Amino acid sequence: MNSIINYTVPDDLGFYGEFGGLYVPELLRPNLEELKEKYQEIKGCQSFRNTFTQLLKDYVGRPTPLYLSEKLSKKYNSKIFLKREDLNHTGAHKINNVLGQILIAKEMGKTTIIAETGAGQHGVATATACALMDMKCIVFMGATDIKRQASNVERMKYLDAEIVSVKSGSKTLKDATNEAIRFWINEPDTYYLIGSVVGPHPYPQIVADLQSIISEEIKIQLKKKTGKENPTMVIACVGGGSNAAGAFYHYYQEDVKLIAVEASGKGLNSGFSAATSILGTPGILHGSRTIVMQDEYGQVTEPYSISAGLDYPGIGPLHAHSITTGRTTIIPITDQEALNAAQNLSRTEGIIPALESAHALAALAKIELTENDVVVVNLSGRGDKDLTTYLNQP
Ligand SMILES: *Cc1c(COP(=O)(O)O)cnc(C)c1O
Repeated sequence: MNSIINYTVPDDLGFYGEFGGLYVPELLRPNLEELKEKYQEIKGCQSFRNTFTQLLKDYVGRPTPLYLSEKLSKKYNSKIFLKREDLNHTGAHKINNVLGQILIAKEMGKTTIIAETGAGQHGVATATACALMDMKCIVFMGATDIKRQASNVERMKYLDAEIVSVKSGSKTLKDATNEAIRFWINEPDTYYLIGSVVGPHPYPQIVADLQSIISEEIKIQLKKKTGKENPTMVIACVGGGSNAAGAFYHYYQEDVKLIAVEASGKGLNSGFSAATSILGTPGILHGSRTIVMQDEYGQVTEPYSISAGLDYPGIGPLHAHSITTGRTTIIPITDQEALNAAQNLSRTEGIIPALESAHALAALAKIELTENDVVVVNLSGRGDKDLTTYLNQP
């Protein structure tokens, strides 16, 4: 065994320490084996790398700026940089992963993409990339979520995605996931596109690799702006954990504090929370062993957060590992704290952040900072989708 703990590369069975792996019905194993093998091939292939890089540049708009916020820097008496993932095409980091996986699907000869979505953000990114790449797109979504997220459903439809309304269980994300997996078992020729660093091996690794562009850019940009590649700390919000994985990726082996921010909703002990790593215990979710919010019988408990993107009862296995080994620190942020942080950034910098990203911003107030500290906050997305929530605030 390798004694150096590696947070971004799992072992052969897909484990990060005790988390990860591949807990799926026997019928799905060939699909995952195929993906694992093909990914190893494709990832090293120069033409894949070139196409992906070119798309990130010309279609997504990368590199995204690293912006020194004078207002936040003054407020917290240190240097605060914002990594502007909100400026990506479609308004968040999710497009990085989706484009990469669709290129992988193309290399594998697939012509149909399936995906599940809760808030609709991953569905929109997937429908966007499918339109670009001429792929058929089927999105599974809980019937309750379809009602709650009407504008994203309209965007997906206009992009020519087929929406499958899932009416089982609580009619939300986990039911949509079950349905997508069922479909995949019957139609193994389709490509199942997962939207975060979750799911069975090799998905967490693929998604983290594809999002690693975020910290790759931060290193170069920070070096130019401060003379050093490394900040004191990097802060990112965690739903499943893909924007955090991307922002932390090239810093795991460096002397840099990594702070993951979870949504504590109405408060950690209120019964309305999505602070998975604090409230959860080890269990199986979505095909991998990770930290899960569950009751004593192993039933997954319904999470709650004002932010749809953080409202997830699990956490990517690489984060479960890095949190339990103490490499990553968790800070819980309530709905109200996030709303206040969103308003502050909007009114002092003229940047309306996504509610998810506002959780990361709110963590700044919970950390002791001095004037020598250099902090990077990953601003994962823009807040247009959250305006109604912001305006209806009491
Ligand atoms: C989906 C989403 C998130 C949460 O997903 P991760 O996989 O944890 O990054 C965070 N921010 C924004 C803007 C999102 O759309």
